[in-house]
Amino acid sequence: MARLEAKYPTEKEYLQAVREVLESIEDVYNEHPEFEEAKIVERLVEPDRIFSFRVTWVDDRGEIQTNTGYRIQFNSAIGPYKGGLRFHRAVNPSMLKFLGFEQTFKNALTTLPMGGAKGGSDFDPVGKSDAEIMRFCQAFMLELWNCIGPDQDIPAGDVGVGGREIGFLDGMYCKLARQYNTGVLTGKGMTWGGSILRPEATGFGALYFTQHLLAKAGKSIEGKKIAISGFGNVAWGAAKKAAQLGAKVVAISGPDGVCEIPDGLTPEMNEYMLVMRASNRNMVEDLATKFPGKAIFTAGKKAWSIPCDIALPCAFQNELSLADAEELKKNGCWCCCEVSNMGCQPDAIHFFQHNGVLFAPGKAVNAGGVATSGLEMTQNASHISWSAEEVDAKLHYIMKSIHEQCVRYGTKPDGSVDYVKGANIAGFMKVAHAMLEKGVI
Ligand code: GLU
Repeated sequence: MARLEAKYPTEKEYLQAVREVLESIEDVYNEHPEFEEAKIVERLVEPDRIFSFRVTWVDDRGEIQTNTGYRIQFNSAIGPYKGGLRFHRAVNPSMLKFLGFEQTFKNALTTLPMGGAKGGSDFDPVGKSDAEIMRFCQAFMLELWNCIGPDQDIPAGDVGVGGREIGFLDGMYCKLARQYNTGVLTGKGMTWGGSILRPEATGFGALYFTQHLLAKAGKSIEGKKIAISGFGNVAWGAAKKAAQLGAKVVAISGPDGVCEIPDGLTPEMNEYMLVMRASNRNMVEDLATKFPGKAIFTAGKKAWSIPCDIALPCAFQNELSLADAEELKKNGCWCCCEVSNMGCQPDAIHFFQHNGVLFAPGKAVNAGGVATSGLEMTQNASHISWSAEEVDAKLHYIMKSIHEQCVRYGTKPDGSVDYVKGANIAGFMKVAHAMLEKGVI
């Protein structure tokens, strides 16, 4: 850690993600001298390679805009590079290195052979027209296409990149590479190689994981009040499955504030979240405008200010602070399943773990998204399409297996489970053994 801190002093998110994993694996690592001998940690914390490129495009006023694009191929020990693309004004190498590092362990947990990667751009989709988004995606792919491929590196969506953006990116990839429907991207449309349930998968998988976690603790989700941050694809899927399982979603938040929904989110409100995402306005207040009296907007407040049983952070890294964790606990919250990548700050996690709040980390809870991307790759490679039932059954099996891996490696002497430790050790063991078997490369 000291060596990394000296080498990358400004890369806060990356250092935070690495520290969490190294602290979790320390004991196991020291029991395996062969890991130390092969310098597994020193090799694992550095990305295999980073592509960085200029993306120039023309906006609707005819003005020329320039952004920076990246693809970080982090680790390929267990399979081709796999991970999303994030379009957000705050994207920088530290953010993408943390995400690529996390992705490596998350993908290992899915049971599928996928290495870790992440990419994106500091392009800000807020306020952009569809045409601007298309031109940006095309310019982005003009640089990226040569670095990716169905057996090499398979990007997908993340914050700011959904079905619309994947469409534009795939269109340009096919044109440039003269490769058609090859499965080089996942999260595709249903008529051109996409997998049924991929849009829902991250949120659905998160709720299946939550069900297993609650069952292990002797609890159930039915009738519980749930607070969710965000209203993008992940929050949408999580809210939909939560309602299907009989829970009540009482809050949805955005960068502008929170909407409290005392009677619970209805299916109409849930579908309206898609409209809000597609509008590029990035304002949760729109829910209250559309459903007056049912969704009550408060500016500047987070979802964590609304009393709930279960908190589901579904937005951005470090979105839940120690003060938020304390407020949640004070208001009766007893479970937090992190759906966003590294959504909780380290001291918030520490607080949950030492104050009787069940906690599970993003790399286990949200792995259903990339796992279903892996299933999409399988369908593409064999030129077939599975039904929603088939995909859902496989997603169920994968989330159950991820939960079992966490329990296997994270059970404490008192019988309770440290899910952070469990997820980190399970992911690490798989990648570390693959690296050992492949020699020094
Ligand atoms: N961006 C998602 C994640 O953080 C999905 C990645 C993918 O499907 O490749 O896991």
